[in-house]
Amino acid sequence: MTGVLVVAYLAAGVLFIRSLAGLSKQETATEGNELGMVGMAIAVAVALVTWILGEHEPNAAELHLRSTGLVMLAAAIGVGFFIGAVLAKRVEMTGMPELVAVLHSFVGLAAVLVGFSSYLHPHGIAAGDVAKAVHEVEVWIGVAVGAITFTGSIIAWGKLRGSISGKPLLLPGRHALNGLAAIAVVGGTVPFVQDLGGQGIWLLVAMTVIASVLGVHLVMAIGGADMPVVVSLLNSYSGWAAAAAGFMLSNDLLIVTGALVGSSGTILSIIMCRAMNRSILNVVFGGFGTGDAKPSTPSTAVSGEVRELKADEVGAALLAAKQVVIVPGYGMAVSRAQGSVQELTRTLREKGVNVRFAIHPVAGRLPGHMNVLLAEAGVPYDIVLEMEHINADFPNTDVVLVIGANDIVNPSALDDPSSSIYGMPVLECWKAKLTVVLKRGMAAGYAGIDNPLFTLEKSRMLFGDAKKSIDALVGSVRK
Ligand code: NDP
Repeated sequence: MTGVLVVAYLAAGVLFIRSLAGLSKQETATEGNELGMVGMAIAVAVALVTWILGEHEPNAAELHLRSTGLVMLAAAIGVGFFIGAVLAKRVEMTGMPELVAVLHSFVGLAAVLVGFSSYLHPHGIAAGDVAKAVHEVEVWIGVAVGAITFTGSIIAWGKLRGSISGKPLLLPGRHALNGLAAIAVVGGTVPFVQDLGGQGIWLLVAMTVIASVLGVHLVMAIGGADMPVVVSLLNSYSGWAAAAAGFMLSNDLLIVTGALVGSSGTILSIIMCRAMNRSILNVVFGGFGTGDAKPSTPSTAVSGEVRELKADEVGAALLAAKQVVIVPGYGMAVSRAQGSVQELTRTLREKGVNVRFAIHPVAGRLPGHMNVLLAEAGVPYDIVLEMEHINADFPNTDVVLVIGANDIVNPSALDDPSSSIYGMPVLECWKAKLTVVLKRGMAAGYAGIDNPLFTLEKSRMLFGDAKKSIDALVGSVRK
């Protein structure tokens, strides 16, 4: 059995790695997802079979225990399968970070439960053994990371859905409080492993409470609008918690999978922070983004003249153009305009206009947000280009349509050192012959700052909800 187990786990591990590779490109994302599903099915099936067969022939009592366990497992898997399928089917794209946050909290909770169970029933480890000390360190780390992930994810979920205020909670001396909690968690390892006074279990309980409070406090101090980065970080923590559980259970596949999730979550958080011109530490400790993760803040005073166009005028400009670039942003997601955008793109292409999309790495509110919406609407992949592949083409573009985007097309990121987004790479759409910005009013975006693009000589505004404006443009170009 051991040989089959190793081969099956190896196959599942390879499938997970291939799944991650597939997910890195839009064209191969579906295949990547499918490979991940097959890998997970193999892992669950093998774990079940191993457990059913056991290490030796079962006696009558063990047989009874296993069959009861099997019924409980089947019931738990059935309920989990049903709830998961219903939730995944119902969730809107904009609600995805919330769902992911809740799922991370389950991983955290699972690591805590595995830790306690593994401490209370350490199979095959004798007292006084070095292996026992190693096992207890694994338990301690797994429970600590799991508890922080569990409570941190619950708070992130509450902030994302608006049931907890998006304002950062900045307690006096909060860094000192976090430091003390971290020292208690790390320092507690020694008395725990030495089992001073036979109080190991109570030390574990106390540490779980401290780590849980630390998780709450860390995430409460982060602004609601930074939650997507926090969710990505918690994704990484959940991976490390799973890897720790893998060590506790001596399960190689869980260690590999946990490490894959942990490292990919860390890499994604770093990419998101870079694209926002922030450091991870600034997000985790900064108390930045006092606003909520909700659309816009009240209108900002943009100096200079704002020139407005009507839909028919924009339609005429689009029909006269040879090269059109569309820059989608958060507002496109809010107004669910992607279907209408696809319709506009199709119509213009049929009329011989070359339409392409320019995607900023942090457009919208989650990584790949725009790519997913455009793919869902059926926009061909080959006309959807990442920022570095299209930025140089703006000077040769006749019309740029900025749909519900703001910060990602703000020129002050390049030329105003006093701007809070100074240094963030942006889509340089103002270099085109005409830039038309579709938004409801003059409100700021996520960063809460003015955008000089709106008053530049070659910029025009088409005010209104993005979907309604695009529908009007479709009507206009079809005339
Ligand atoms: P922004 O938040 O900068 O701007 C969105 C604009 O959309 C607003 O100015 C708003 O203006 C407009 N809008 C809102 N609703 C509608 C609607 N129904 N119809 C038309 N327009 C609408 O979005 P961007 O995509 O430009 O930038 C993303 C920002 O989010 C960046 O600052 C990024 O750093 C941040 N961020 C991104 C993350 C990611 O992973 N993608 C993660 C965390 C943060 P108005 O109200 O006037 O219509």
